[in-house]
Amino acid sequence: MDCRVSIISGGYGEAAVLRILAQQPQTLNMEALGIRFQTLDIINNAVNQNKGIVINTGPTGSGKTTTLYSILNQLNKKDVKIITLEDPIEYSLGGVMQTQIDKEGGYTFANALKSLMRQNPNIIMIGEIRDAETAQTALEAALTGHLVLSTVHANSAAGAMVRLAELGIDRSILANALNCSIGQRLVRRLCPACKKEQQPDEALMQKVKTVLDGIDPSAKITLPDKFVFFASVGCPACGGIGYKGRLGLFEAIPANNEVRKLIQDTKALDAEIETLAAKAGFISIELDGILKALSGDTSAKRVIFATHRSDLKTAEASLADIEKRINKLQKDFGYTRVNEEGAYQAALEEYVEAKTFYWLTNKQPLKKIPNIKLEAQSYLGGLCDLCGELVRQAINAAANHDYQTVKKNNQLINDILAELINFDMTGYLRTKYDQARQHLRKMEEVNYQISLK
Ligand SMILES: [Zn+2]
Repeated sequence: MDCRVSIISGGYGEAAVLRILAQQPQTLNMEALGIRFQTLDIINNAVNQNKGIVINTGPTGSGKTTTLYSILNQLNKKDVKIITLEDPIEYSLGGVMQTQIDKEGGYTFANALKSLMRQNPNIIMIGEIRDAETAQTALEAALTGHLVLSTVHANSAAGAMVRLAELGIDRSILANALNCSIGQRLVRRLCPACKKEQQPDEALMQKVKTVLDGIDPSAKITLPDKFVFFASVGCPACGGIGYKGRLGLFEAIPANNEVRKLIQDTKALDAEIETLAAKAGFISIELDGILKALSGDTSAKRVIFATHRSDLKTAEASLADIEKRINKLQKDFGYTRVNEEGAYQAALEEYVEAKTFYWLTNKQPLKKIPNIKLEAQSYLGGLCDLCGELVRQAINAAANHDYQTVKKNNQLINDILAELINFDMTGYLRTKYDQARQHLRKMEEVNYQISLK
């Protein structure tokens, strides 16, 4: 067991903090995390320089730090001095000097970085760049013969460059110091024991085609003759979830001369940087995900979900689009007639599930859906399915140590079930209600597992 001890001397004696660290997992390896194709070459090339900065970006819980650890793991050799500034230290790396940020004690990223420079490290890993001062110091280190690895909070590799520039640092310093910018997401890996072949529906397939059509020949990607996708099932090997472990989706943009020129142009937007990168065979997170779905590692649905999850505008737009279609169907065929169609009813339930889930994730209360005429059965059935979605979200959250969401979703499912019992849940709705109760049981299991930790 690894344990990090930090002792600070105070006026009335010493204060000691003991932190038990996770053992370094087997998967601290770039390829095992899911870095493939030319993205791997770009990153390898960028981290094998003896100066410059490599930035990784993605939403909270997307595995940014784990990727940096896997890079450090590869660079960690005798005679290479590596120092990290972390908040908190997540894994222990043998032979690496890892230090813990202590904001209250004045040991901030910026202060720590300045004092650690005196130790003459070859490589510095900074947990996160959040402010101009840290960014400035990190870039200066990168320009003076140190390889710097860090993360920033942004949505894409190109977005990270813009984000750094917007912190108010000198754009020409950024342009000169940058080696490469990485973007990533995390998706669930399909359980190899039970995944089954399944073609995505028309709308999803359309999205997949759009992404694949955008491949530049210079990306050197060979697509299979026949597109085969897989979906999750659930079996004893995966605890009935249908997924086992997680997989990263990656993109990387090297700072070549053209990219450097764009960074220095104060008007440059991330879209322009991406367009430029695309000409050099850039593989976006989304494309990487579709390629991984084609190789059966994950499902196309997961990829689209993961790449658009933080894009609320997309969710809003697609809900509005569905609403338009529902109203058109009702108008064209008559409300009674469309409701006789099983496929229509199923679609409406799915719509209710998506709409209510959207409300909940945006901290809005459940209410009557405005401007859409629907039967009570569709709404109630959709609420039952919503419980399943909340469980899935909670499992994801638990994997990311976000126990608050787990607790919140547990409460939500309890509340929804308590409300549903007030309705006439017989016949078809009885089946849906029983499914919702199973979701609650699964939810409580997740909660219980967490309480054991
Ligand atoms: Zn399975």
